[in-house]
Amino acid sequence: MLVRAALRTSRLSSLATAQRRLASSLVFLEHKNGKLNDSSLNAVTAAQSLGSDTAGIVVGSKSDVDGVLEEVKKIDGLTKIYTAASDSYSHSLAENVAPLLASVLPAKNISHIFAAHTAVGKNVFPRLAGLLDSSMIADIVALESSGDVFTRPIYAGNAILKIKSSPKDKFKIVTVRTTAFDKAKTGGGSAAVEEVEATSGDASTKYVSEELTISSRPDLSSASRVVSGGRALKSQENFNKILDPLADALGAAVGASRAAVDAGYADNSLQVGQTGKVVAPELYVAAGISGAIQHLAGMKESKMIVAINKDPDAPIFQVADVGLVADLFEAVPELTKKVEGAKA
Ligand SMILES: Cc1cc2nc3c(=O)[nH]c(=O)nc-3n(C[C@H](O)[C@H](O)[C@H](O)COP(=O)(O)OP(=O)(O)OC[C@H]3O[C@@H](n4cnc5c(N)ncnc54)[C@H](O)[C@@H]3O)c2cc1C
Repeated sequence: MLVRAALRTSRLSSLATAQRRLASSLVFLEHKNGKLNDSSLNAVTAAQSLGSDTAGIVVGSKSDVDGVLEEVKKIDGLTKIYTAASDSYSHSLAENVAPLLASVLPAKNISHIFAAHTAVGKNVFPRLAGLLDSSMIADIVALESSGDVFTRPIYAGNAILKIKSSPKDKFKIVTVRTTAFDKAKTGGGSAAVEEVEATSGDASTKYVSEELTISSRPDLSSASRVVSGGRALKSQENFNKILDPLADALGAAVGASRAAVDAGYADNSLQVGQTGKVVAPELYVAAGISGAIQHLAGMKESKMIVAINKDPDAPIFQVADVGLVADLFEAVPELTKKVEGAKA
């Protein structure tokens, strides 16, 4: 009897420990110009799949935070929104934001923190992991509800690694591949807002200026269709003249290979691949792209891949659902006309 009671107590206490461990997850909600970056909604879904309480945190200058709070309070299922406002947090300078997050996690008994695997997430989270003496778990595509087993691609997406985080890592610091998780719904939430104390960061870095590519096209990372061009386009002029009309006809975002970016045909922000953006649209059209492994790493999860290349042995044809061996300077304008015709 006593033994059973003792066993039961120990089982209950280990259950309690497990639940305490999962007591809370936090999502770093990224924003720009007073608008939530909706990649964060994919990170919310990953966090919520653990089944524990999930809160969000918004940091930035006072005006940034004021702008975005109303929007993030409405994210479905978030229990709380923590916030800290200070000019030092504007532009998400990692040297300032990481120490704040490092103070919030232990203070609020948070075991897991998630961010989208964006330029900001990739910049802030490894520093946070360093500050908390925990390992960084980057670019996950799945996680188990135990909260310590994560799946991520390695070797440019050619192998899938399952990792079990050590109990020695008190905090799980995780970035999320946005294409692997749906976006959390918004509109139904009514999370309470709690201010947390701003910490003084490290004044060694300073934001100077930025140059943004302004485009009326859909955002490359979240577009449902993408038209990408490679070195074969030969010039920036051709790149725009040949690809833009097809992208417009399809309502698609434009992407590029690294060779096209390096040659100056397309902006850096359009690069798809291991060192660029990872996309997984419904439709990915690759025109004049050979299909190097580093390019495939950024697009091979697309639902339908169409390749146009004049070399029948180009590796892109191994991942393409539809392949056309043709000169893109003829095939792409013809395809554009057909798409426009079909819409008319
Ligand atoms: C560490 C590292 C990271 C990298 N990261 C990336 C990355 O993120 N993204 C990326 O894209 N690359 C990346 N690369 C570069 C990658 O290895 C390739 O060099 C690059 O993807 C090649 O680009 P491309 O296919 O446009 O050019 P190419 O390999 O030169 O291919 C051009 C293709 O166009 C075809 N072609 C030529 N003329 C025509 C025509 N008139 N009509 C139809 N087809 C035509 C050719 O048959 C050829 O297949 C990386 C490389 C390294 C080492």
